[in-house]
Amino acid sequence: MANDRIFNFSAGPSMLPLEVLNRAGAEITNYKGSGMSVMEMSHRSKVYQGIFDETQEKFRKLMGVPEGYKVLFLQGGATMQFAMVPMNLMTKTGKADYVRTGNFANNAHKEAKKYGEANVAGSSEDRKWTYIPSQDQLTLDPEASYLHYCSNNTIEGTQWQYVPQAPAGVPLVCDMSSDIMSRPVDVSKYGIIYAGAQKNLAPAGLTIAIVKEDLAGHEMPITPAIMSYKNMIDKDSMYNTPPCWPIYMLGLMCDWVESVGGLTELEKINIKKANMLYDVLDESKLFQVAAEKGSRSFMNVTFRTGNDDLDAKFVAESVKKGFSNLKGHRSVGGMRASIYNAMPMEGVEALCEFIKEFEKNA
Ligand SMILES: *Cc1c(COP(=O)(O)O)cnc(C)c1O
Repeated sequence: MANDRIFNFSAGPSMLPLEVLNRAGAEITNYKGSGMSVMEMSHRSKVYQGIFDETQEKFRKLMGVPEGYKVLFLQGGATMQFAMVPMNLMTKTGKADYVRTGNFANNAHKEAKKYGEANVAGSSEDRKWTYIPSQDQLTLDPEASYLHYCSNNTIEGTQWQYVPQAPAGVPLVCDMSSDIMSRPVDVSKYGIIYAGAQKNLAPAGLTIAIVKEDLAGHEMPITPAIMSYKNMIDKDSMYNTPPCWPIYMLGLMCDWVESVGGLTELEKINIKKANMLYDVLDESKLFQVAAEKGSRSFMNVTFRTGNDDLDAKFVAESVKKGFSNLKGHRSVGGMRASIYNAMPMEGVEALCEFIKEFEKNA
């Protein structure tokens, strides 16, 4: 890899493309002749409004966001959305459906219970969160205010390979924190898509919510102004100071995604990277993939030897080889390779070689 950078398999915050970092670096003290850094600008200034509007436009174009949807640039992480979604949407019928497929999906469900009846529409707990339930395994309430799911389970390494069908009139709400902009998405199927930016898009601090406008404006009276979709729509995400720098970085990231051919091309590359890794793991006699076939994530590849000492040895040796963050989440153990948009093919190739070499010497 160029200069002295290592292959960083962190689940988030995670790698950004070198091109993006270099561009940010070149502009860091004087953004396009403004005499100041983007970090130092008033968010009400003309030059910053330009950055904001351009980023909105590029993001909408790449994601194919249709009319009738607003893209909000918020803070508070995906975790704040766990509360913001029920506060704004659950007033319709006082209940909502949640699919429990792992740590973050379950946290969203737990939070929603504070605001109404949050029912379990499906769960993969019976096989330790290693799979995604099929459509016919879901029990859906036609009177739910919405149906919530998490498209990619960052910690467990599972990913929905289909878009669940909600009953007529029930909006679909999705936490896409760890796979947003990794593949094309039909936004029109959703009521709300939200994502923390620090996995696939930008530095931490920015949270994106794509909101179907007619869902806003029905929030609970206790909803803080900063957590009202309607308020944020009316104020164009600038009710208060937005995360100025990460929004600018998102704009650079959008340019990069465009330069590699947009989401259709990016998906092909992401599938190729993931399959390369899964093939090596499937051929191995030492390693097992944690997620079941058909539910495997193209973003977070979880695997293990079944022996904790050997797993620890693998992680320790990987660090010596110049890889970082291959240790699995503490709740799952084993290893996890997060291979988001910015992880280059060479990084995955190098990891595959290391896995084979480790097995040979084990
Ligand atoms: C990381 C992550 C979260 C938590 O995001 P924060 O921005 O830290 O609040 C939620 N959901 C998913 C799927 C994640 O990957």
